[in-house]
Amino acid sequence: MKKGQLVFKVRCPYCNGNGYFQLLLGGSETCDYCRGEGQLKHKEEKSTVS
Ligand SMILES: [Zn+2]
Repeated sequence: MKKGQLVFKVRCPYCNGNGYFQLLLGGSETCDYCRGEGQLKHKEEKSTVS
């Protein structure tokens, strides 16, 4: 049985794909989860059965 890794990007749910948070007091803060990219790399382990 082989194991493959599938990597795809999903929109960051924490900053809604913006890459940063809008602060209530004004200004913005870079999103830590996606590091300002607005996208998360989603890894999925796939098992392939032959
Ligand atoms: Zn984010």
